[in-house]
Amino acid sequence: MVPSTLSRKASEATPLIAEYSSRFRLVETSAIWIFAALFAALAARGYFAPFSVSAVQTALIVFLGALSADLVSGLVHWAADTWGNQTWPIVGPTLIRSFREHHVDAKAITRHDFVEANGATALVLLPVILGVHLFMPGSSSAWTHLQSQASLFALSLTFFVFMTNQIHKWAHVDLPPSFVRLLQSLRLILPRGHHQVHHRGRHTSCYCITTGWLNPILDRIQFFRLSEKLIQAISTLRAREDDLKLIGLAAQSRSRVSSDTHPS
Ligand SMILES: [Zn+2]
Ligand SMILES: [Zn+2]
Repeated sequence: MVPSTLSRKASEATPLIAEYSSRFRLVETSAIWIFAALFAALAARGYFAPFSVSAVQTALIVFLGALSADLVSGLVHWAADTWGNQTWPIVGPTLIRSFREHHVDAKAITRHDFVEANGATALVLLPVILGVHLFMPGSSSAWTHLQSQASLFALSLTFFVFMTNQIHKWAHVDLPPSFVRLLQSLRLILPRGHHQVHHRGRHTSCYCITTGWLNPILDRIQFFRLSEKLIQAISTLRAREDDLKLIGLAAQSRSRVSSDTHPS
């Protein structure tokens, strides 16, 4: 991956841009294919179950799956934005780094292709969808009505979680495909203008990035601020300590570059 000029300049002061190795890309590509195969297999098993789920129930379950994915996206995004730094094991150089990078250079995500944007999500979802397969009875003829509904919910949830980073990327693309613009205007996926609210100021609102449906509720009840107060009361962690430091360093780096380019 070739980082942009801005990313490169920002990374001189803030070591945010990690090497995207061809080996890791191979792991991510494999994860996407395995996830797709397990997803299709679960859908096929549900198709052959003795219970069919009505159209109304299907719509309701798909909606609940999308809503749950939106909640998951908000919780993960808030946690990665707020706590820790890149030295934390496992999540530091992967999850935390990518969210820190996103605040310093919001357009970097638009330069990631499908594998780079969605491979890590597929990797995280593999044990989840594998767990659903193992939890359900081996033969779908033995599935109960509730298990048929549960598998449909799992399909909806994993589909929307898998699509979250792609949807987030579309919210930053200047001119996304027309079908995406239609879904955004119908508010079926995260609308561009709505997500820009998160990128204003200190990035402390509108954390949900799948559909954005839960943002008005979670922001109104101060869910994330109250959670931060609770965590700070029982730990030594300080909210956004690392994020604000990196944004400050990147801003200093940019002003240094512009004063070098345009000396007074
Ligand atoms: Zn953020
Ligand atoms: Zn964003």
